[in-house]
Amino acid sequence: MRCVICGSPDIEKKRVEEVVRLENDVVFFPIEVLVCLNCGERYYDRRAMRLLEEVGEDIKAQRMNLQAVGRVLRPVAMTY
Ligand SMILES: [Zn+2]
Repeated sequence: MRCVICGSPDIEKKRVEEVVRLENDVVFFPIEVLVCLNCGERYYDRRAMRLLEEVGEDIKAQRMNLQAVGRVLRPVAMTY
């Protein structure tokens, strides 16, 4: 398999933190996916897609034990 973005053959299964968003909440969920070592593109197989769907549902239904690790901020007014 070659990376469709950069063409590199260096693709490995790695543990990454996938960002799952739910309204104003952001959850970093550890998951194993194929990652291009050259450009960082992530490839999700069917198993990973299904797992992330389940994770989203569990977060929504508050079935997952979560702890706060940071803050989520947005500018008070648009200044740019
Ligand atoms: Zn790549």
